[in-house]
Formats: sequence, C-alpha cells, structure tokens
Amino acid sequence: MKTDFVADVVIIGGSTAGLSAALTLGRAMRRVVVLDGGQPCNRQTPHSHNFFTRDGETPAQLLALGRAQLQAYPTVHLQTATVTQAARKDDLFQLTTAEGQTFWGRRVLLATGVHDQLPPVPGFAESWGISVLHCPYCHGYEVSGQALGVLGNGDMGFEFARLIRHWTPDLQLFTNGPSTLSAAQVTQLVAHGVRIVEAPLIEIEHSKGQLHHLRLAGELRRQLTALYARVPFVLPGTLAQQLGCELTEQGLIRVNEVGQTSVPGVSAAGDNSIPMRQLALAAANGSKAGAFLNNELIEKEF
Ligand SMILES: Cc1cc2nc3c(=O)[nH]c(=O)nc-3n(C[C@H](O)[C@H](O)[C@H](O)COP(=O)(O)OP(=O)(O)OC[C@H]3O[C@@H](n4cnc5c(N)ncnc54)[C@H](O)[C@@H]3O)c2cc1C
Repeated sequence: MKTDFVADVVIIGGSTAGLSAALTLGRAMRRVVVLDGGQPCNRQTPHSHNFFTRDGETPAQLLALGRAQLQAYPTVHLQTATVTQAARKDDLFQLTTAEGQTFWGRRVLLATGVHDQLPPVPGFAESWGISVLHCPYCHGYEVSGQALGVLGNGDMGFEFARLIRHWTPDLQLFTNGPSTLSAAQVTQLVAHGVRIVEAPLIEIEHSKGQLHHLRLAGELRRQLTALYARVPFVLPGTLAQQLGCELTEQGLIRVNEVGQTSVPGVSAAGDNSIPMRQLALAAANGSKAGAFLNNELIEKEF
C-alpha cells in the first residue's frame, strides 16, 4: 500500500481543460498534481481564436500564461510526465508514468484530449491547423471570402459544405472519390454555387503548411487558401479503459453534466468528453469538473 504523498486530485493532462481544473482546485485549497505529456492537439496552429479576452494568442502563450498564474498556488504541482497506468487501490488511485514515477490521488481527472488521426496524404499533417482546418469558428474569419475547399462526402460532406458556404461564396466540395451525396443535396449545393469535385486527393501542395494547391487524380490542380477537413480521432492511450470508464458511441469518455464518469472518483473534462472542440468550452468544462471534484471531497470529509 502507498506511503508517499497523496494528492486530493491527480489531473492527467495539463492543457486547457487540465490547467483550468487545477486553477479551480488550487483556489479550493486542494493538493493537486498535474501530469502533462506536452502534446496539446492545437500545438501546430499559429494563432488561437474565439477565446474570450485571448483572441489571436498562440497556443503556447495561452498555456504559458495558465501555468504562470498557477504558480501563485503552492498546493498545485505541475510536472511533465506521461501516465501509462492507472488503477484503483482501495480508496485511492495509483498512477504510474512512463518516466517510472508513481503518484497517488484520492480522485482522478482525465483531461487528456484526443489524438487526431490524420490521413497519410502528403502535405496534410504539415498543414494541419495552419491551412487544413477543422473548425470555422476557430479559423474561418481569417480566410473568409477566399477560395476554400471542404474535404467530405455524403451527409457529413453536405453539412460541412453548407456550414463553410456561410464564410465564402468561393467553395469547392472535394468528395475524394465518387460522390455519395443525394440528388437533393447536389441540387442544393449547386444552387448555392458550391462546385463538387470527385477526383481523389493526391497531395496538399504547401509552403510551410500554407497550402496553395490541391493535387488531385487525373492531373487536376485546384488553387485554394484553405481546406476544411474532419478527421477521425481516438483517445490517447488506454487510461480511460484501464479505469473502466464507459465510452460514448463516438469514442469519447461518457460523463454527466458535471464531468463525472461511470467510475466513482474518476472525472473527465475537455475534448476527451465533449464533442465540440473549443478552448472556451474545454476551460469551462475543466473548471466545472474541478468544482464538483471539490464538492465530492467535501461530502466525504464533512
Ligand atoms: C489544429 C487545431 C486548432 C485549433 N484551434 C482552435 C482555436 O483557434 N480556437 C479554439 O477555441 N479551439 C481550437 N481548437 C480546439 C482546442 O485546441 C481544444 O478544444 C483544446 O485544446 C482542448 O483542450 P484539452 O485540454 O481537452 O486537450 P488538449 O489541449 O489536446 O491537451 C491534452 C493534454 O493532455 C496530455 N496527455 C494526454 N494523455 C496523457 C497522459 N497519458 N499523460 C500525461 N498527459 C497526457 C497531452 O500531452 C496534452 O498536453 C483547435 C484544435 C485543433 C486540433
């Protein structure tokens, strides 16, 4: 059984959701350990947008500011480490890191984000977050009115193209193979000036992540400022599964409205448990999960 320091809450993941929870818990005078692997999903994007009071900062600046402000709370300990194993031992949780350390906590908050699975198209990974974009609320304003593309097919492609059409009249929908759009969807898209291109995508031609052309099968090339794409994602590692957390059909950690998972004592916050990926939501979510973890501990103690 353990003999070392026991944290009230061990937070796994020290990006937007995790640091926000740490702030709430630190201010609630809780002993908090934050273990972070340093790989936030937005790390390649040059500027973060749509985050109240911080619009246009770099992702690194935002996290540096969050970490600096946590220095005021001596009960919050931040450490670079990757947790590889998580298990309940009686009424505590044992967390083991790849670096060979063990941490103990009365509660665990999973703020681990998701891992985007980028397709093996040359240029895609290099342009991800720079000119290959996942979200118009994050980056749409900066490229509005310009030549844009959506990579997608079927219902998802239709809905994504309809959304992006709001930001530009100059839009092409790249179905990357034969279209699976319905006749009605094609009619609506064409009526709104969206051009449908079925040729498979071969390469994203770019310069330092800034795309200039899509190269398609059949010697086609299309000049674009940005391409929108939705990519599949997975939870990073298997911590949620090791702890026995239920997942949703989308593969996210199932939580209630205050971030509690199906496993007592384990909460989750941020991209790993909410479908809309936005900094403001991850921060709000982390803060709420932190407050309810504090409530849980008060209920136990009082
Ligand atoms: C390319 C891109 C651009 C974006 N741009 C914007 C934008 O402009 N505006 C906006 O509002 N939103 C934007 N988003 C969305 C936003 O980045 C996310 O909603 C937000 O980062 C989610 O925060 P999070 O803390 O849940 O996860 P993340 O920020 O992904 O952080 C998860 C952290 O957990 C760590 N971690 C994972 N597993 C472990 C482990 N086992 N042990 C230790 N640490 C671990 C990771 O290393 C990482 O540091 C963007 C997303 C992407 C992909």
